[in-house]
Amino acid sequence: MIQAKGYAVQSATSPLAPFAFTRRVPGPNDVHIEILYCGICHTDLHQCRNDWGGSTYPMVPGHEIIGRVKAVGAAVTKLKAGDFAGVGCMVDSCRQCAACQADLEQYCENGTLWTYNSKQRDTNETTYGGYSDQIVVEERFVVKVPATLDLKAAAPLLCAGITTYSPLRHWKVGPGQKVGVIGLGGLGHMGVKFAKAMGSHVVMITTSPDKAKDALRLGADEVLISREPAAMTRHAKSFHFLLNTIPNGHDLNPYAALLKLDGTMVLVGALTALEPPLAGASIIHGRRRIAGSAIGGMAETQEMFDFCAKHHIVSDVEVIAIQDVNNAFERLKKNLVRYRFVIDMATLRAGK
Ligand code: NAP
Ligand code: ZN
Ligand code: ZN
Repeated sequence: MIQAKGYAVQSATSPLAPFAFTRRVPGPNDVHIEILYCGICHTDLHQCRNDWGGSTYPMVPGHEIIGRVKAVGAAVTKLKAGDFAGVGCMVDSCRQCAACQADLEQYCENGTLWTYNSKQRDTNETTYGGYSDQIVVEERFVVKVPATLDLKAAAPLLCAGITTYSPLRHWKVGPGQKVGVIGLGGLGHMGVKFAKAMGSHVVMITTSPDKAKDALRLGADEVLISREPAAMTRHAKSFHFLLNTIPNGHDLNPYAALLKLDGTMVLVGALTALEPPLAGASIIHGRRRIAGSAIGGMAETQEMFDFCAKHHIVSDVEVIAIQDVNNAFERLKKNLVRYRFVIDMATLRAGK
C-alpha cells in the first residue's frame, strides 16, 4: 500500500482536517498521479454535509483533480510519467453495460464508482478523493491534460466543465439559439464560456445583480436578474435552451416560462425535491421539456479538454491553501466565490 495524506471530514458537522490513509499499489492498467490542484465543487459541500443522504465518513472529498503522472502500469498506453493528467467524478464502472459501451460511464447500469464516498465493488473499500497528495486510477478514467492549459485553472474542467459542456453538446446548442445559463457559480461560469464558444446568444440568469459585469466579461450577451419579475416577463417564451445550475430545490415554474415552443431546460444542480411543485401547465403550454444531465463520459471529457485547448477556455479560479479549506466551504455556502476555489496541493505537502 502507498501512504497518502489528505483532508477529511469525520461527520456531517465536523470541519475538514488532516487525514492519513492508503492508496492501492498501481496495477498494470493504473496511473499513479501526484496531485497538483483540486477544485472545490458545490457537490463536495453537499456530500460532506450529507445533504443528499448516503454520506459515509471519514470522507476525503474532491473530484476536480489535476496532477503529474508519477508512474504508469505496464499496460497503460495513453499516458506516461511526467504527463499532466486529470481525474474527475468517476474512477471505475462495469465496462459491460449498454451505457458503458456507449462511453456513458456516468450512467453505468451496474453503478458508477465515484471518486469519493463510493464503495469498490470487489473490495468494498471506500474511495477517497482529491483533497489529497496522490491518487491511483485506472487508465480509462484518466484524461490527458494539454500542457498548454493553465493547470490550476483547468482543474475545474473535470467536473464544472464537463457537467456544462455535455448537455450543451447533447442538446446541440449553437448559432441562432438563445441560451440561458441559470446561476453564476462554478458550473454556471463554465456554461457561459462554452455556450458562447459554441456560437449561441447567451443570457446569464442570476439572482445576484452584482455579478452582471462579470457575466458580460465571461461572454454573456445579456444579463437577466431572476428576482425582477418584469425582466422575467420581458424574456418569457424566448429561450431555446436553459442550463439550470441552481444547487438546491427551487421553484421551476418561473424558469419554465422563459422557454419558447419546444424549448428545453436541463437541470444539473438540484438533486433534491423541487418545490413548490411544477405546474403541468408550465410545460404543456409550448410543448416544453425539462431534462437532467450528469457530468459526461470519459471520451467526452477528453473531447472537452481538446475543445478548451482550441478555444483557450479555463475556469476563473481563486487558489487557496488547503489549510484555508474550511473558510472556502463557508464562502461557497454563502455564494461568495468568483467563480471556483482551487486548492494548491503544494500547501498540503508543505504541511504547515
Ligand atoms: P456554486 O458555485 O455554489 O454555484 C451555484 C450558483 O447558483 C450560485 O453562484 C448562485 O448564482 C445560484 N444560486 C445559489 N442558490 C440559489 C437559489 N437558492 N436560487 C437561485 N439561484 C441560486 O455551485 P456549483 O459548484 O456550480 O454547483 C451547482 C450545483 O450542481 C450543485 O448542487 C452541485 O452539487 C451540482 N453538480 C451537479 C453535477 C452533475 O453532474 N449534474 C456536477 C457537478 C455539480 P447567482 O448568484 O448567479 O444566482
Ligand atoms: Zn463536482
Ligand atoms: Zn456499466
